[in-house]
Amino acid sequence: MVPSLAGATQDEVRRANLSLVLRLLHRDGPLSRSAIGTTSGLNRSTVGGLVTELVDLGLVVERAGVGRGVGRPSLVVEPVSSSAVVLALDVRVDRTVAALVGLGGEVFTRVERQHVDALGDPGRIVREVAEIGREVLSSAPTGAVWVGTGVGVPGIVRAEDGLVRQAPNLGWTDIPFAQLLGGALGSGARGVQVRNDADLGALAEHLRGAAQTVDSLIFLAGDVGIGGGVIIDGQALVGAGGYGGEVGHVRVNPTGRPCRCGAVGCWETEVGAEALVASARSHGLDVVTAIDVIELATSGDGVALQVVQDVATWLGVGLVNLLHVLNPQAVVLGGHLAAVYGAARGRVTEQLALALPAAREQVEVAPAALGSDAVLVGAAEIAFEPLLNDPVGLLNDLSADVLVSAAR
Ligand SMILES: [Zn+2]
Repeated sequence: MVPSLAGATQDEVRRANLSLVLRLLHRDGPLSRSAIGTTSGLNRSTVGGLVTELVDLGLVVERAGVGRGVGRPSLVVEPVSSSAVVLALDVRVDRTVAALVGLGGEVFTRVERQHVDALGDPGRIVREVAEIGREVLSSAPTGAVWVGTGVGVPGIVRAEDGLVRQAPNLGWTDIPFAQLLGGALGSGARGVQVRNDADLGALAEHLRGAAQTVDSLIFLAGDVGIGGGVIIDGQALVGAGGYGGEVGHVRVNPTGRPCRCGAVGCWETEVGAEALVASARSHGLDVVTAIDVIELATSGDGVALQVVQDVATWLGVGLVNLLHVLNPQAVVLGGHLAAVYGAARGRVTEQLALALPAAREQVEVAPAALGSDAVLVGAAEIAFEPLLNDPVGLLNDLSADVLVSAAR
């Protein structure tokens, strides 16, 4: 796990090791010094020096662990969740979910609010999101340093500067969302990181959810649209422009429904929440949400079950294509897709059985362990990245930022 640092200066090596240890504690929680050494591959005295430095930065504390047998109990190093906090935002089509998350992943505050009028007016959404963001930030524990902001949006995002290239279900094209939100929040030197929502869901399920033990996975977020996040061999599949993994617009049914993206028969027009509701209504069912349809199906309504089974079949059709191209070990289903799978698993399995054995025999299909908070958790994780990459550098930058604001 020790990164290759051939030719690096002593200071660069120390900073890289500091990052390695802090990242480990953030992900795994309290660890003894010896466990840090075993997992990181660093020797005892190096670990001791790094832990002391992290204690001095206020990011971790050491306390006596529970002793086993005779001898001194070893010290346990634990991240101080109130030392550094991030603002995590999940901007959905109908609402925004916001959370204040501490180092180590503790959620201090979580707020969910419906948009007043989302479609077509990005400026209004920015104002609404900034307002809920400021409200969440105001709940930060005393002394906590706000180190970053992470945002998930249901669209195609240029990661380097947070430009939302296209969010069909919000009606957005080329919106500089990170810049607008950074301005509205007054976030200064703290970068606002914006990513596709399903990419964040994949990251979260990989780090803290249902896919922690595998390195290749597909996460499918079922909402109005179908977002896909793909991680292969531990690396997010981003593609040349950063727009890879847009599986919702893979065409599965040339005679299907028109999609908001302009094409016909995209996967999301067959398995999205709207498809489920529209199909149920066309069969005379009085339903409002996808979950209504699935609940009717599981409570024994034959018509609803047929509707859900049809969607499950299309879910399987799309998955077979993805298994052949990507060869994942896990498919993690979020939102209503988890419920569709739960209610009509047989239809999905029937389709998967048509895949080449080599492509399907390793794969496990599972519901998202983080439920509807997967995107929020992933947003917090990318917001922590600058701190985890270079704790000393970022805290220095931020203290300069605080001084600058105070001087104004
Ligand atoms: Zn489409």
